Amino acid sequence: MYDYDLLVVGSANADLVIGVERRPGAGETVLGSDLVTHPGGKGANQAVAAARLGARTALLARVGDDAHGRLLLDSQRAAGVDTVGVLVGGAPTGVALITVDPSGDNSIVVSPGANGRLTPEDVAAAGSLFHASRVVSAQLEIPLETVEEVVRSLAPDSRFVLNPSPPRRLPAEVLAACDPLIVNEHEAKVILGEGAAGVSDEPADWARLLLAKGPRSVVITLGAEGSLVASGEGVTRIAAVAVDAVDTTGAGDAFTAALAWRLGAGASLEEAAAYASRVGAAAVTRRGAQDSFPTAEEVGAL
Ligand code: ATP
Repeated sequence: MYDYDLLVVGSANADLVIGVERRPGAGETVLGSDLVTHPGGKGANQAVAAARLGARTALLARVGDDAHGRLLLDSQRAAGVDTVGVLVGGAPTGVALITVDPSGDNSIVVSPGANGRLTPEDVAAAGSLFHASRVVSAQLEIPLETVEEVVRSLAPDSRFVLNPSPPRRLPAEVLAACDPLIVNEHEAKVILGEGAAGVSDEPADWARLLLAKGPRSVVITLGAEGSLVASGEGVTRIAAVAVDAVDTTGAGDAFTAALAWRLGAGASLEEAAAYASRVGAAAVTRRGAQDSFPTAEEVGAL
């Protein structure tokens, strides 16, 4: 019996958002709107998304001993995430400085801060969390060596889900553990590297090429076009749920968290992706990232 349905290992950032009429050039100052601060980071987002659906969720992350760190801890706890694995100190909390212009375009500067200090030793010291977790998910907003240690720390029967964002080439040992590797089109191209050259625009072809790189299964998310799941049994298209999208921020995090949770509950990859599509669709009907994540009841009502 596992204590947690899902252990998320990843980043926690404070997103500092200012609306501007236009972005400043070099040496220039512009005035913007009042500052709005949101809890974010892909790890923190995925943990909140899973907990809101009802998954027993723990987060392994590092935040600074500062006000942003406390904001992140509070938002995790408010969503019902177990923060026993959230380490405090070593560097300021990671921050994303975001300016948004009237057309909705973002410019973002990220300071990884404490996320960059989540070390392989931190992972090794959290062995009891790994043994208590049915599914473990990670992203790449923490050091790659740390993700490699996550793979080495998995309990024999647990399942590993990786969303390689921001994308980079991955060691064979990490790829081989993914079940599934979850990518969008951009991430798929980076992971395929030179292997993407000359490939058709058909996502099913990318899915087969990605699968040949070693993961046990692959999911390619395609925004409003839904997703593709690929395993040794073939490639299946999963339809999107038609909704009026107002803000797609966090859709990928909501999708990944939901898929990881359903897989742990015994769903097939196709069933889990179909459920995750409903969760992703619900998330795009509301503004923000964590604020947009639905409860299981809201998913059911969709
Ligand atoms: P992001 O980085 O913005 O969080 P992503 O690129 O990782 O997102 P997407 O492919 O945009 O991920 O979205 C994940 C899933 O959410 C999609 O596969 C789909 O099921 C659902 N989804 C996203 N956008 C829409 C939409 N406009 N309408 C319906 N479903 C959507």
